[in-house]
Amino acid sequence: MPASPRKVVILDRDGVINVDSDGFIKSPDEWVALPGSLEAIARLNQAGYRVVVATNQSGIGRGLFDMSALNAMHEKMHRLAATVGGRIDAVFFCPHTANDQCDCRKPKPGMLRMITERFEVEAQHTPVVGDALRDLQAAAALGCPPHLVLSGKGRQTQAAGELPPGTQIHDDLRAFALDFLAEEHE
Ligand SMILES: [Mg+2]
Ligand SMILES: [Zn+2]
Repeated sequence: MPASPRKVVILDRDGVINVDSDGFIKSPDEWVALPGSLEAIARLNQAGYRVVVATNQSGIGRGLFDMSALNAMHEKMHRLAATVGGRIDAVFFCPHTANDQCDCRKPKPGMLRMITERFEVEAQHTPVVGDALRDLQAAAALGCPPHLVLSGKGRQTQAAGELPPGTQIHDDLRAFALDFLAEEHE
């Protein structure tokens, strides 16, 4: 019997799952879910997808908040997701600033590569959902299908253009889940 295919969706965090802020999200109190985003995660889970977050968190490198604050934000995210039956399997984050020249900060594909290796999935079958151009660029660099949501900075990203070829656009994470799962069943 063939093993069932592993299925993963990779999500950016700020502006996709939770409300973004130009002043950074620095504490659990500032972490506020976007309407319908946690339910969308639950819907993806129900369709057999693991949901993994890949997020740039340069606020750590800038000293705006520390690891315990980041952990507390993610505890809140996991707890609220669980209240609607959603599960986030892992959170990968880049704590560096652009000056650090790391391989994990998007638009570099390092975090996405770590996720596809850890979960043993193929990039071309692993969609990446983000609201910023660098999310889509990281996806395209690894060969993951890029999906832009218009929440967060998404409308600015759409207006600025230069989206990677094949980028699909959705109003928000809720719309992504509906569109993506409908397409899967065609
Ligand atoms: Mg974002
Ligand atoms: Zn990094």
